[in-house]
Amino acid sequence: MKQYINVMEEVVESLVTFMLQSPDYRLFCKCEKCKTDIIAYSLNNLPPHYVTTEEGRKNVFENLNTDKNREWVNKRIISAIHLVHNYPKH
Ligand SMILES: [Zn+2]
Repeated sequence: MKQYINVMEEVVESLVTFMLQSPDYRLFCKCEKCKTDIIAYSLNNLPPHYVTTEEGRKNVFENLNTDKNREWVNKRIISAIHLVHNYPKH
């Protein structure tokens, strides 16, 4: 792995990919540009969680994987999805 990684980035990337497959967003654009924008907007509204070891990465994953944390991360991703849908850059 890279010397340092932002675990929040990995979490948001996979959540955005997963959420865009939901029927709720079937009419939303899922092109690479919109997806990248959604991830960037979400990450601007979420705290970074940098780690330097695989163990640290696992710990952060576990910490983020509680109902409460998943809920506020999801909320920010959902607003990013709507923002990009309302103001697409293409
Ligand atoms: Zn698009």
